[in-house]
Amino acid sequence: MGETSYAIGLGSNRYRGRSPRATVEAAIEALTGTADVALVARSPIVDTAPLGPGSRRYANAAILIETAFSPSELLQATQALERSFGRRRTRRWGDRILDLDILLWSGGCWGDAGLVIPHPEFRQRSFALGPLVAIAPAWIDPVTGLSIRQLETRQNRAIPVDRASPHP
Ligand code: ATP
Ligand code: CA
Ligand code: CA
Repeated sequence: MGETSYAIGLGSNRYRGRSPRATVEAAIEALTGTADVALVARSPIVDTAPLGPGSRRYANAAILIETAFSPSELLQATQALERSFGRRRTRRWGDRILDLDILLWSGGCWGDAGLVIPHPEFRQRSFALGPLVAIAPAWIDPVTGLSIRQLETRQNRAIPVDRASPHP
């Protein structure tokens, strides 16, 4: 087992024989139940409102894993798992049975055509930061230099755009 750590964000908002919550639970077991990937910590599963064109509420969670997989190898593994859970390529942010995003990597930053780590949007997403702060509050985001706890606090305090605009 290598010492590389990753934080993975999980989400589901479609039923396919079981609830989104049970799907997230099963995905954690499937991803970390092999000799290649060890589960280090897991957050509670939270219910969140959909982002974008999705229509149903999500079950979201985050896990910390250790694996010898490179970022590209881990993306292959997580995409294979999404497919095995019945996910078909649909539009971005659409309803889905299972979404596995690589949020953070102990190696710092990674960027190629198909993969960017840290996940470019995680700092703006309470459904990512909430679960993440439960398992990795002191992890430093290599892009901003802020800890997950600081990012989560800042995100909670963010003023909605409609209230931030100046009134004449
Ligand atoms: P978002 O990325 O905003 O959460 P999404 O999860 O709905 O949207 P997907 O359709 O699941 O987007 O993935 C689109 C592509 O994003 C994937 O094919 C993958 O190559 C790429 N990608 C880039 N960075 C990452 C990352 N850190 N984790 C997972 N996929 C990534
Ligand atoms: Ca996603
Ligand atoms: Ca994704």
